[in-house]
Amino acid sequence: NGRWARTEEILREFEEKCASPIGKLRQVADAITVEMHAGLASEGGSKLKMILSHVDSLPTGNEKGSFYALDLGGTNFRVMRVLLGGKEACVIKQECKEVAIPPHLMVGTSDELFDFIAEELAKFVSTESDDFHASIGRQRELGFTFSFPVRQNSIASGTIIKWTKGFFIEDAIGADVVVELTKAIKRQGLDMHVGALVNDTIGTLAGGRYYNNDVVAAVILGTGTNAAYVERAQAIPKWNGLLPKSGEMVINVEWGSFRSSHLPLTEYDHALDVESLNPGEQVFEKLISGMYLGDIVRRVLCRMAEEVAFFGDTTPVKLKTPFILRTPDIAAMHHDTSPDLRVVGSKLKNILDISSTSLKKRQVIVELCDIVATRGARLAAAGIIGILKKIGRDTVRVDDKQKTVIAMDGGLFEHYTKFSQCLVSTLNELLGEEASKNIVIELANDGSGIGAALLAASHSQLP
Ligand code: ADP
Ligand code: MG
Repeated sequence: NGRWARTEEILREFEEKCASPIGKLRQVADAITVEMHAGLASEGGSKLKMILSHVDSLPTGNEKGSFYALDLGGTNFRVMRVLLGGKEACVIKQECKEVAIPPHLMVGTSDELFDFIAEELAKFVSTESDDFHASIGRQRELGFTFSFPVRQNSIASGTIIKWTKGFFIEDAIGADVVVELTKAIKRQGLDMHVGALVNDTIGTLAGGRYYNNDVVAAVILGTGTNAAYVERAQAIPKWNGLLPKSGEMVINVEWGSFRSSHLPLTEYDHALDVESLNPGEQVFEKLISGMYLGDIVRRVLCRMAEEVAFFGDTTPVKLKTPFILRTPDIAAMHHDTSPDLRVVGSKLKNILDISSTSLKKRQVIVELCDIVATRGARLAAAGIIGILKKIGRDTVRVDDKQKTVIAMDGGLFEHYTKFSQCLVSTLNELLGEEASKNIVIELANDGSGIGAALLAASHSQLP
């Protein structure tokens, strides 16, 4: 009947607008490489911030001692400590605690957020066993993974440029993250030195390198998305400090803010953007990352409900609630292998109060999830190609057996199997058979936190 024809039409139109054929992906990758060059040439000269991390040496494996780390960058935050035993022993012991950030703190004041963090840290420190604190009297060292755009002034200081991923704390913009954290730690009566400030990409890169010397880049696919890589210091015209001894510098690409006319954007993406906390910003991130994929699907369903009464005569109230459909939910529906799509049925019931959907409708929903996830995964693959091109690792050179490893972290990549499979196969498709043999994606579970601890260790100024 007419309703089904119109439903099909909405679906096909959406699919067409989301299409990311190989040619388009190459254009995206090329545009990213171009923007990377521009961002390295001058401050503010590109859509990509290409932030200098001031990390010019990555962990070697020789680091020793006990170190703390904090990881803040999305819905949860983690406190951890590691005991490092040097070359042979590696990580002797590692403990971690994860805490959910109360939503009101994401949009409150700087002091409230940092007090909460420091308080959780203090609680965690109080559970420390003796082996972590062998030499009494020595100040504890901490590495802080803070995954929002920061203008980095040194390895242990940086000011907040802007908030992303649903955070918005106005009085913290322009403040030094390490100063704010240190003040909050003092307010807790804790004696701790913040020795490294990094974001999750740098942390993941450092953590990945600790275990594998071939790691040259890191990508995050979680609530948000971003990447970092090792650049030759000579290739950074905007760097006017001393050339680091290593000749290298880790760059935080901040690729979430990439945008280009080549990106396959739809009216649903525009609506999501306009209604977001950061309209006009983080366009690439809004196409790819876990915070947004579910809501894109919801928006298309909303349109179907309104235009063709897809879920009955009235649009279900809950379906109109932004972000009610989360990415883990669409992953579960997308992964549903039951013949009657039972998981889809129960998600609709439990989340949206929509009961008794036909199999045909459930199939439409699975297809929507597939379209949205496929577009995101393919664009993420194009982003990786952009970086590989920049460092000349996207093609095979003669006699080149050099492996290129990309450390990957984030709940989206880790749990959304169809997304990660699509990303890997698209990457191989873009690289071609030969080059893809030398390029490996390695899941670095929780690498971001431990990486900050490792950088605090390798940059430690304490005896
Ligand atoms: P963060 O990015 O906040 O530091 P994570 O790396 O743990 O944290 O990623 C969490 C994000 O990963 C969630 O916001 C969600 O979007 C996504 N995610 C988590 N679990 C799943 C899942 N099962 N399927 C799809 N996406 C998931
Ligand atoms: Mg994270």
